[in-house]
Amino acid sequence: MPTDPALPHGRPAAEVLAELRALRRADAPTRGGRTFAYVYDAGLEGLDELAAEAYTAFATVNGLDPTVFPSVARLENAVVGAVAALLGAPGAQGTFTSGGTESILLAVKTARDHARSVRGITEPQLVLPSTAHAAFHKAAAYLGVEPVVVPVDPVTFRADAPATAAALTDRTVLVVASAPSYAHGVLDPVAEIAAAAAARGVLCHVDACIGGWILPYLRRAGREVEPFDLSVPGVTSLSVDLHKYAYADKGASVLLHRDAGLRRHQYFAHARWPGYPVVNPTVQGTKSGGLLAQAWAVLQYVGEEGYTALAGRVAEASDRLLAGLRASEGIRVLGEPAAGLVAFTVARYEGGTPDLGLLLHLADEMRELGWYLQPQLSFDGLPPNLHLTLTPATAGQVDALLDDIATALAKARTLEPVSVDPGLAELAAGLDPETLGPDEVAAVLAFAGLGGGAGLPGRMAPVLVLLDALPGALKERLLSEFIGSVFRI
Ligand SMILES: *Cc1c(COP(=O)(O)O)cnc(C)c1O
Repeated sequence: MPTDPALPHGRPAAEVLAELRALRRADAPTRGGRTFAYVYDAGLEGLDELAAEAYTAFATVNGLDPTVFPSVARLENAVVGAVAALLGAPGAQGTFTSGGTESILLAVKTARDHARSVRGITEPQLVLPSTAHAAFHKAAAYLGVEPVVVPVDPVTFRADAPATAAALTDRTVLVVASAPSYAHGVLDPVAEIAAAAAARGVLCHVDACIGGWILPYLRRAGREVEPFDLSVPGVTSLSVDLHKYAYADKGASVLLHRDAGLRRHQYFAHARWPGYPVVNPTVQGTKSGGLLAQAWAVLQYVGEEGYTALAGRVAEASDRLLAGLRASEGIRVLGEPAAGLVAFTVARYEGGTPDLGLLLHLADEMRELGWYLQPQLSFDGLPPNLHLTLTPATAGQVDALLDDIATALAKARTLEPVSVDPGLAELAAGLDPETLGPDEVAAVLAFAGLGGGAGLPGRMAPVLVLLDALPGALKERLLSEFIGSVFRI
């Protein structure tokens, strides 16, 4: 690391680049198919190089002003046009954004402002299944909208359409369905939820952030996929992340609206200041043209046939993984995965209740064997699980993965069960997250093995078992404090 934060003199480019490359060595690998979260690897020759060159060609272009940089409008119309052709309906309009979170923020802002202007709603509510992505809660918190959470079906993990319909009120500005949900990878009953919303004049957003660029191609590859996009009556907006199953680099998503009248509420314009007249479709003002250019280039390079073949590889990997997991003693796959996402629980014996400690030992053992599977904690009666995102690059690894899961699980069963110190659990449960002082926070973090900015412990099981046992608000406070200790300046 540079030792002097004041940067008194410049350094040679080669030295700077060497330092960057060295920093990557501690990271999980982003290519090769052993990291089952966060990364999307098409495994296609030349794709990374193309994206990097396309980014470089547009890195200095400012996407803020398409009148000065007309290429930005040409590229954005092409990218949004491709998304509308695949997932839209006649008259649909959209915007290229920096990611799923920004698309969702803008969808909620659109609904809030539309409802204020058309229905006079001043105390807006957002109705969402308990499996809707956390980004909707972030949007609600940022935008002053009250989230109304509806539990999902505990067996299928799909949104409960009748219960969701019953949660709609005169203050509901938007209802959400996922295609599929991130947590369990299952498709919500989009048509039923959208119909209930339409019947009450409420907007309906389909979160196809992860599924939007794989589900239609799975259909083309011969799989059955229920309708979920803007062709479904009542769906008024849809988000799809191109940085997931379209394999663009990170910072690429599209938000589509049913029509221009809705999209208008997404925009922000300000002409009452002495600077240049501002109109921003997105949260960002100045933005690099590079992300848009690389997303466009990747879509052009892969093409429909390419995406169909890639979706087929993911589906085939998913079939093999599901068969292997379902045949493993004590493992239970959650729900009926619709695309490339799989979540499973682990019990001590076949038919037993999910065992969080065992599950987390398994995750730690897998990490030691060079795999990353993503732990998800329990919530509202839904079991803790390990989550895998399959991509074409992981397809060639499924057999090795299943072998190592068997080895790691056998080892995990022999380890001392992890449990929460009852005294600590009691102490922590009595803490008020609102009034916690720095000393109390430091004590709990230290107890969990996360203290003092020392970085993460080698094994996460003890930390996550403690976290799982804490009330939600306290969990959130401790997570914030922990991340604050990671970014310690
Ligand atoms: C990834 C994802 C999001 C959030 O997207 P980011 O790109 O991480 O901001 C929202 N919803 C679903 C279903 C997702 O998978």
